Amino acid sequence: MFSTYLALGSNLGDRHENIASAIARLREAPDIKVMKVSSLLENAAVGGPAGSPAFVNAAAEVETSLSPQALLERLLEIEREMGRVRRERWGPRVIDLDILLYGDHVIDQPHLRVPHPLMHERRFVLAPLAEIAPDAVHPIFKRTMTDLLAALQQSPHAP
Ligand code: ATP
Ligand code: CA
Ligand code: CA
Repeated sequence: MFSTYLALGSNLGDRHENIASAIARLREAPDIKVMKVSSLLENAAVGGPAGSPAFVNAAAEVETSLSPQALLERLLEIEREMGRVRRERWGPRVIDLDILLYGDHVIDQPHLRVPHPLMHERRFVLAPLAEIAPDAVHPIFKRTMTDLLAALQQSPHAP
């Protein structure tokens, strides 16, 4: 079993309900055990099309026997089941499920990069993650989530 961390985000429809529904679907998956879920935090949309609605974001710790690729497939399947439609890059979405960390693995494949390549730059990712995994260590930067979040707080314009 590997301990992994996921990011959840929603900025369309009933955002809290969408996060709750994604967590429920993860709990139903036979090969995935949800260990911890952060609080749900509201964040302005960054990087997407102008006027994008605000997000609700959360992080979850899951234990799984699935490979990183199989876990990603499962997440993309849950996104599809929940009616996510991909239109424009970083466009509004019912649900977004990303793999942040997968144990201490470093994966650099065309369709899967872990740790998530932007996680250390995103307050909306690090804040919920540091809440449930303050001492988890980023396998490339060798810094804890608490450290990475503190470094971001010092750059006032970071998302
Ligand atoms: P961002 O990666 O900047 O958060 P996004 O989540 O909006 O952007 P999506 O359109 O949801 O991007 O995903 C596009 C593709 O990213 C997915 O189909 C998947 O193959 C790929 N991907 C690469 N690394 C990861 C990862 N760690 N977690 C989830 N998807 C990933
Ligand atoms: Ca994302
Ligand atoms: Ca995604």
